[in-house]
Amino acid sequence: MCWGFYKTLPIYHGVLAVYELICGLIRLGMFLDSSNSINTTKSLRKNSQVVAAFILDWISSMVPTTMGLFILFLSLWCGCRILRSHSCQDSRRHTNLRLRDLISNKPIQRFLIFNCNCPCYIARPKWRFLSRMIFTLVTIGLRFLVIILYATAHHDGNEKNHDSSQSLAVACGITVPSAILILLLDYYHYRVWWHYVPSCDQEPVCGGRRYLKKHKRFIPYHLMGEHRNAMRLGNEPCPAQYCIDRNLEHIMIFHYNTFRPQARWSEVRQINDNHLGTYVGFHRTSPAAAVSIAYTDFQLSLKRPQMLGFGIYFARSIYHTMGKARREGAVICAEVLMGEVREIENAELPFVSNSDLWWMTYDTIYYRHPTDPNRDEFCIKSNTQILKWVIVIEQPYDTKVTQYGLNTEYDDTQCECI
Ligand SMILES: [Zn+2]
Ligand SMILES: [Zn+2]
Ligand SMILES: [Zn+2]
Repeated sequence: MCWGFYKTLPIYHGVLAVYELICGLIRLGMFLDSSNSINTTKSLRKNSQVVAAFILDWISSMVPTTMGLFILFLSLWCGCRILRSHSCQDSRRHTNLRLRDLISNKPIQRFLIFNCNCPCYIARPKWRFLSRMIFTLVTIGLRFLVIILYATAHHDGNEKNHDSSQSLAVACGITVPSAILILLLDYYHYRVWWHYVPSCDQEPVCGGRRYLKKHKRFIPYHLMGEHRNAMRLGNEPCPAQYCIDRNLEHIMIFHYNTFRPQARWSEVRQINDNHLGTYVGFHRTSPAAAVSIAYTDFQLSLKRPQMLGFGIYFARSIYHTMGKARREGAVICAEVLMGEVREIENAELPFVSNSDLWWMTYDTIYYRHPTDPNRDEFCIKSNTQILKWVIVIEQPYDTKVTQYGLNTEYDDTQCECI
């Protein structure tokens, strides 16, 4: 049901644009009508405040009006073709096909909703929302200014002019709700991307369960680092080899899955930085378990065998969670408070394996891999050490991305960004 609404967003924008066009034409008609009164010296066009309001009015409704005109033109053109093809049965099917093509044409849809498809927005849905929100808010602000100007214009006792400028104010006022509706549609569009709920989260939207505060967000898999394109300006991965951005979304979205956000724990401990004591780790599990974590936090692994003892396990990169974890389908990137750390190598494994005895003196066991530092891992004793996380559900387990068409939203971008 919801994906149906998401896919018809351009239609709602189109309807609102046509509404704006109609209101705009009504205002134009009212303005010209009152200006063409018999006594031209006292026409509305002589009142500078009303003229200023009228110009501002058109500036603020330029974009929706252009869109409305475009839709009108498009439907007239299609209507003409259908009428013409009535005589010929053969071309009729052809025309219906063309009409459907036009309506489902994504660049046209984007043009209708004035939605820029800059490559830099692909991985940054928030930027697209903010730029559109600023644009819409400016429009709404201008409308209010226009309404005030129309309503407060002085007409030196000319009742007729007074009335028509009052009705211009009203005609402008009725377009404010449609601008607010556009803002709401944009917000919904943004929420689907940035406050994403994967298809495997079966909880009803209004069901009582809420995500934990520590759960920052689900990231739809098509936003992940492997989908960045180094050849496409704006959509390229993070260029820094030694990137110090510890933002979990940044790590997941702008780096490949082999990226290790931090050096080995022993080196991190030596460098005194603001993040002293925390470390970024990756945890792989099943989609159902990941959803359950979002609601109820991590659970300790208590089933033998456990190499570093009982607790919650993390690796240094997404890539190195593969093969290690017993379940798959979801990856969690978490910021972990390390606390009291015991660093061990192979020889000390027997002291911690399959046991919780180390819990008494340590919070974390950090295992230094003897040959490959990339394969280090660590185990913590309590989920209270986990400060926050983001989760990605992998492609085979999440159907929502393709259902909503999120992964193809930017595919057929033409002329740079439309
Ligand atoms: Zn851009
Ligand atoms: Zn980076
Ligand atoms: Zn653009």
